[in-house]
Amino acid sequence: MSYTDKTLSCRDCGQSFVFTAGEQEFHEQKGFTNSPSRCPACRSARKAQGGFGGGPRSSGSTGGAREMFSATCASCGKACQVPFQPSGDKPVYCSDCFQGQRNRNSGGGGGGSRSSRW
Ligand SMILES: [Zn+2]
Ligand SMILES: [Zn+2]
Repeated sequence: MSYTDKTLSCRDCGQSFVFTAGEQEFHEQKGFTNSPSRCPACRSARKAQGGFGGGPRSSGSTGGAREMFSATCASCGKACQVPFQPSGDKPVYCSDCFQGQRNRNSGGGGGGSRSSRW
């Protein structure tokens, strides 16, 4: 038996699309008797929305890249990006100032502007 391509119009977007012979054969093998009423684009769009059964398993979430928040450095006032949500009560420092603070705290060498000597 042979099939011929049919041109149908999508009931969603109104565009005409081709119901190919191969697809018709496939349909019949699957036991579908009615021809598709939507174009392939609308069909896949519906699937993506989860209209048909199947778990809401999202395909591949964006892992890897850390979310960055924009903030203003409390020390130098530069705009910077921090890997955490800046909460108003804690000062946020840019990477430069953050490093500077650490170095100062560790107290190690490095010619300070004025080394306090007592
Ligand atoms: Zn359509
Ligand atoms: Zn800074």
